[in-house]
Amino acid sequence: MNETLIADVVSAVLARLGPVPAVQTPARSEPSSAGQFGIFNNVDAAVEAATKAQRQLADGSLAMRKAAVECIRHVIRRDREEFARIEFAETRMGRLVHKLAKLDLAAIVPGVEMLRTEAVSGDHGLTITEYAPYGVIGVVTPVTHSIPTVACNAIMMIAAGNSMVCNPHPSGAKCAVEAARRFNREIVEKTGIDNLICLIENPTLESADRIFHHPRIRMLCVTGGPGVAKAALVSGKRAVVAGPGNPPVVVDETADIEKAAAGIIEGAAFDNDLLCIGEKEVFVVRSVADALMAAMERHGGHRLAPADLDRLAQAVLSRDEKTGHYHPKKEFVGRDPQVLAETIGVRVAADAQVLFAQTDESNPFVPCEQMMPVLPIVPVANVDEAIAKAVHYEHGFRHTVMMWSRNVDNLTKMGKASDATIFVKNGACPAGLSVGGEGYASFSIASPTGEGVTSPLSFTRARRCVMVDNLRIV
Ligand code: NAD
Repeated sequence: MNETLIADVVSAVLARLGPVPAVQTPARSEPSSAGQFGIFNNVDAAVEAATKAQRQLADGSLAMRKAAVECIRHVIRRDREEFARIEFAETRMGRLVHKLAKLDLAAIVPGVEMLRTEAVSGDHGLTITEYAPYGVIGVVTPVTHSIPTVACNAIMMIAAGNSMVCNPHPSGAKCAVEAARRFNREIVEKTGIDNLICLIENPTLESADRIFHHPRIRMLCVTGGPGVAKAALVSGKRAVVAGPGNPPVVVDETADIEKAAAGIIEGAAFDNDLLCIGEKEVFVVRSVADALMAAMERHGGHRLAPADLDRLAQAVLSRDEKTGHYHPKKEFVGRDPQVLAETIGVRVAADAQVLFAQTDESNPFVPCEQMMPVLPIVPVANVDEAIAKAVHYEHGFRHTVMMWSRNVDNLTKMGKASDATIFVKNGACPAGLSVGGEGYASFSIASPTGEGVTSPLSFTRARRCVMVDNLRIV
């Protein structure tokens, strides 16, 4: 099929899918808002309100912070189905069932319990280190997890004693605003503080820029792709930057192939591979490549012919002529495999989870962070080549990598070579965020600035308090 024909088919499929459905106005929402329950139409007013709220929080007790955090958790538990539905309707990406799973995860991110005071006592007295708030934090959130990121950031930042002013992604702003309104309303009822979680109702790049340079914003936390990561890094403010990834998977000849296949499909299918930690390309040692692909078909993968993967890349990715880099076309981000396959005239079963095909490095799905359930499978000669290619196509983001192997030496090599923030061994990507693995969850994984899987501690300043020659009790 030539490019014009593909373009025609793509247009036809999009036309058949119809316009993006309007977000249904939730029952308890208010028509407009500005200035109450955290919703603002300009940054300066939001910062003023957030500053007042933060002072009230800082003057209050730890119990008050805990109560505010519990309000957010309670509202998520209460409204999870509606939140999942309105986010899905507005963004039109991912899978409804996984929107629920992400909200459930957002509700259990860590809170005040993480802020443990450290103490050193000796001949010269006692020194304690306490974790103090920054103040008002400027936040930018992605379209891929709009409500979960606002909720997760809010829980961690408030637990640490901060308030926030958030510029949500314009394509996921309505649902984020509605969730924030409900969080704030509950917090006002339980603590008397309004505007701990401030959102800009009509976010733009200009409002983001105002947040980045507002003198009363003490810290930034941005979650998104390369553009926003760079903008935050050059802002001159202390920034927690949760940037892009392109997580590779390495499978060596010692792996449990059945488990590897199941895990790769599970991870790439989760929310149609929107997650920054999701499996995006696979490098498999050639001697087990056929077995892996056969097992992937048994676990819900639909195998495409290599030529079909090339045609799919032309249909759903676009090439930046200046840089030569490929990007996913917006209208295909997070779409179901059936919709994607239809763009090249291929029909797949209604229960297919992921499309995949054997290919080589020349296929654009390998370097591109596609954010859709399509996996290029690249057979290579041996584990060293697999690791080298995985590191190369992760582009130095040092975000997330996965490996399936029973050889500890190989796993260690991969851990060292990738230098990734999250390295999942013998598990699907959600294990990196505590789903099927140990640890805690977060929706902001800060690789460029080094905080890693963020926690309330990421939003604190360490302050030391020293008593000389006294207060020691032994
Ligand atoms: P995106 O970069 O298009 O947008 C993210 C946010 O940044 C949006 O609110 C957007 O309006 C804003 N933005 C973009 N450019 C900006 C600029 N120059 N100045 C100010 N604001 C700007 O990303 P997306 O499509 O919403 O999300 C997907 C991307 O986010 C992927 O690259 C994914 O890997 C990444 N992501 C990372 C994490 C993490 O924890 N590291 C989590 C989720 C998503």
